[in-house]
Amino acid sequence: MEIPMTGTTSAGTVRLADDLVLTRMGYGAIQLAGPMAWGPPRDREAAQSVLRAVVDLGITHIDTSDYYGPHVVNQLIREALHPYPDDLVIVTKVGAVRGADAAWNPALTRLYPLSPRWYKWALYDRDPLERWAKGRATLLGDSAHAMLPYLGQGAGMAIEDGCVLAAMIARHGEDLDAALSAYERLRVPRTKATVLGSRARAKENHLASPWARLKRDVKFALRERFGSGDTTAFKVGWLYEYDVGREMR
Ligand SMILES: Cc1cc2nc3c(=O)[nH]c(=O)nc-3n(C[C@H](O)[C@H](O)[C@H](O)COP(=O)(O)OP(=O)(O)OC[C@H]3O[C@@H](n4cnc5c(N)ncnc54)[C@H](O)[C@@H]3O)c2cc1C
Repeated sequence: MEIPMTGTTSAGTVRLADDLVLTRMGYGAIQLAGPMAWGPPRDREAAQSVLRAVVDLGITHIDTSDYYGPHVVNQLIREALHPYPDDLVIVTKVGAVRGADAAWNPALTRLYPLSPRWYKWALYDRDPLERWAKGRATLLGDSAHAMLPYLGQGAGMAIEDGCVLAAMIARHGEDLDAALSAYERLRVPRTKATVLGSRARAKENHLASPWARLKRDVKFALRERFGSGDTTAFKVGWLYEYDVGREMR
């Protein structure tokens, strides 16, 4: 059994109403505005080419909001894609914008004090495990590698695990031991790096001392300006360049 691993349309379509069928995989455009969804992107043309690539890849719905920018992302979509292809559906939240000083919508800030009680939501992770399988049972997703949310990868890693596990079972036929060992060999190093990377980012995001924060910000700015290779602030290129299909070949 060969499992197709690449392609944005291989997830198929989803029908939302009689006349509304969308590709299951859409494009969420929040990242096209400036940092933290505020202001214009540094490279307007690059942002427009991302949008054109989305359509070229066969994706038929884009999620956006007036609040991204504000207005910036909606403008970029028009600049890049108008006149719109007949099958493209653009979903936008109109009127949800932040104030000129990047303030949050006052409806939200009025809402919070109305609650008589607030709860803290604890965040935990687990030290990476070296082995996941015991006999014919193995782990996958959060049960194998519960991680902090600072790289936004918990669900992504669970999906990658599922792809690899299915493919290894298909590849090794009746030899389940070989399939589960191959699955671990492929998945343990990557998920370990993600668990530890999220943990490190948690520390770096929440430095208590203003001097430590300044030092971190200068380091990021220098890396972005003068660095070579992966110049992303938290050096996470390895996360997004990964292609689970390629790794399994
Ligand atoms: C607020 C929040 C935001 C997140 N944002 C992101 C994000 O942006 N990107 C990202 O990649 N990840 C994100 N995650 C992490 C992501 O949701 C998890 O990593 C992912 O859901 C893990 O999938 P899983 O299938 O391993 O576990 P789960 O989704 O927890 O599924 C386990 C299932 O097993 C069921 N179950 C438990 N015990 C039993 C039992 N005894 N019998 C039968 N069923 C049982 C549970 O009810 C549950 O449905 C976020 C998580 C939270 C909480």
